[in-house]
Amino acid sequence: MPSSKALLVALALAPASGLVAPAAPVRPATALAARQPITGGNWKMNPTSLEDAKALAESIVAASAGATAQGIVFPPYPFIGIVGEIIKDSKLELGSQSIFFEDKGAYTGAVSASMVKSLGVKYVLAGHSERRTLFKDDDAAINQKVLKIIESGMIPVLCLGESQAEYDANLCESVCAIQLAKDLAGVAAADVKTMVIAYEPVWAIGTGLVCPSETAQKVHKFLRSKIASMYDQATADAVRIQYGGSVTPDSVDELMSMPDIDGCLVGGASLVGDKFGRILNFN
Ligand code: PEP
Repeated sequence: MPSSKALLVALALAPASGLVAPAAPVRPATALAARQPITGGNWKMNPTSLEDAKALAESIVAASAGATAQGIVFPPYPFIGIVGEIIKDSKLELGSQSIFFEDKGAYTGAVSASMVKSLGVKYVLAGHSERRTLFKDDDAAINQKVLKIIESGMIPVLCLGESQAEYDANLCESVCAIQLAKDLAGVAAADVKTMVIAYEPVWAIGTGLVCPSETAQKVHKFLRSKIASMYDQATADAVRIQYGGSVTPDSVDELMSMPDIDGCLVGGASLVGDKFGRILNFN
């Protein structure tokens, strides 16, 4: 049985034929129409060869036809161009896992925003916890990346979330509020409206531990209220907030039934076409 949210998406996307009986809405259809569900697959440093990357992209294209959510794939840099070719006739969008905020020059190993834009990238991750911890991206650098992504005409997916120790110390909301304020410094309301925020509790990433959906909903609602106070209610109502952390076909439907969860950011399960397709086709 499809959830109320999945039914509302179907209604929002259906032509006005009058043939579809409306279900009892969980939230106003206007809010839903303004926030089309959006789900990304972050491949991280996978797969390990071009051939496997092509096969994965092809399987995701096949599994995502008619998906409920807008899908984005975030391949590693070397595979972005060919994956873009493979998905170009599908409804999937192309993403980049990061960028460096300088335009060009002597930055060995770095990749600029204009480089990925020229490959057809529309969405760019900023602030993923693996970048924060392994590559020492701090909030100042993440803010510069967010600003550069916007300036380059792409859409940031700003990832934030608390560590296990911060969660245990009941610091989740304050940590998320600080990251949000620092990472969005100087970003205009109009750009926040179109961007995506991914709430990713670090303790849930790659661990198999999914944040309980009611807890995730509370944090998403909190983040939306912070955006309302930093900007205004219209901006808060428009911005899409994803949940990320061990999402699978088994957990997606309950997460997506929450009114402030607008999609998922998926790591491990995005490496299997059928699994990612099922997540995009949530009920
Ligand atoms: C991620 O990398 O953003 C992520 C959520 O990974 P996983 O789904 O594997 O936990």
